[in-house]
Amino acid sequence: MPNADLLVLEGIDETEEGVVLRVRSKETPQCQACSSSDVSYHSTYLRHLRDLAWQGRPVRIQFKTRRFRCLNPQCPRQIFAESLPGIAAPRARETDRVTQTLRLVGYLLGGRPGSRLLERLGMKASRDTVLRRVKKRSAPETATKVRVLGVDDWAWRKHQEYGTMLMDLEQRRVIDLLPVRSAASFADWLRQHSGVKIIARDRCGLYAEGGHEGAPSAVQVTDRYHLMSNLSEAVEHTLQQLQIEARAELTQERIPKPSGRLTLVEARYQRCRQARYERYKAVIELSRQGCTQLQIAERVGVSPDTVARWQNAGGFPERRIRRDRRRDQARFLQDRARGLHPALARTHFSSARMAALLLTPPRDLSATQLSYRDCFLRFCPTAYRVRKLALQFRAMLRWRRSVRLGKWIEAAVASKFPLIVQFARTLRRDLRAVEMAISAPWSNGPLEGHINRLKMIKRQMYGRAGFALLKARVLPLSA
Ligand SMILES: [Zn+2]
Repeated sequence: MPNADLLVLEGIDETEEGVVLRVRSKETPQCQACSSSDVSYHSTYLRHLRDLAWQGRPVRIQFKTRRFRCLNPQCPRQIFAESLPGIAAPRARETDRVTQTLRLVGYLLGGRPGSRLLERLGMKASRDTVLRRVKKRSAPETATKVRVLGVDDWAWRKHQEYGTMLMDLEQRRVIDLLPVRSAASFADWLRQHSGVKIIARDRCGLYAEGGHEGAPSAVQVTDRYHLMSNLSEAVEHTLQQLQIEARAELTQERIPKPSGRLTLVEARYQRCRQARYERYKAVIELSRQGCTQLQIAERVGVSPDTVARWQNAGGFPERRIRRDRRRDQARFLQDRARGLHPALARTHFSSARMAALLLTPPRDLSATQLSYRDCFLRFCPTAYRVRKLALQFRAMLRWRRSVRLGKWIEAAVASKFPLIVQFARTLRRDLRAVEMAISAPWSNGPLEGHINRLKMIKRQMYGRAGFALLKARVLPLSA
């Protein structure tokens, strides 16, 4: 029974649908409006409440509810019925603990899976019911003031629609979800929630602008997580480019250009390369005319990412060929001539994996990782310089040495690796916030985790979750 202090069990019936508990209240009646105990009996009716299952059997509580007349002449209420404080809400058809269970199951699993699980547990509830319980929150959040706010975007649909997630970085709690991503909406939110002292944001200008507008006195901090991930992206693309150059050098050294008739495969390769070259020329031409990356992408028919890469490549980037026996053979011969073990000969490395290895201090690498890395550095010695820059940056973040930032930016700009130069220039544009990122302890790492959780929830519902439901499942479950 939900509360034996308040209820008296009069009998238990076993029916087709499950177990029925017949109960009545043992409280002395008291008017809810004026708290007077001066009352007289009026009538009785039966109230039915669903309760937690018993050994997998559904349980229904049949509550014999008495009605009373209030005899206080000043009281506005004339007739009242017994209530069940702490057991069920007025007019509810289930006990509070059932509501809480439905809400918890729906919060964790979503509508349909939740409904299936509940049926197995003897608490049948439709998926709509489960979702309604999740969406109905008991108390409004953000009663406490936020001091350190993390803000980032999440995608409704990638490249098309975005929303905003806000997190209290001190309490490590998601505090709000906004359906849009814009400077104005963020500024509005900040005006409604005063007291924010520090804003940790990504390097996109929207939240910076919204922050200046909504909370001018707050200190803005660039997010360390994004700094590191942007750096490793730049390193990855640089390594890709360096590999292509190293391979090109190798083939020029070793193999004279094949002359005469092309094989079918070579002819097809040439055709594809030509078509790609035309697209490349179109991209460069349009960007000279001042089109935006999105416009160019639409007109030429390539993705915006490709446009960005080509604009920064500084020349036509030859396509990576995953397997090229002739080039590998050249490498093989060259290594044998140098007296190296031919098994070490390798000309294709995963740039992503290599970027991760170069960004990790050597003491944290396994023997296999070290030999893979060394093999790569032998093949492409220019990468030493990239590695040095990357590790310096990492150490700066690790040891909170923001004084070195200016020097690092200078060195990076002088390095002539186009993507690293670009990365360094964007740091310079946002210098104050980046310095804060290095010296302040705040990071949006936990927020990224919650964004991943949001993505999971979105996919779990096959993209059909509306904003209200998504918000209810992303915000922490209030007990
Ligand atoms: Zn009364």
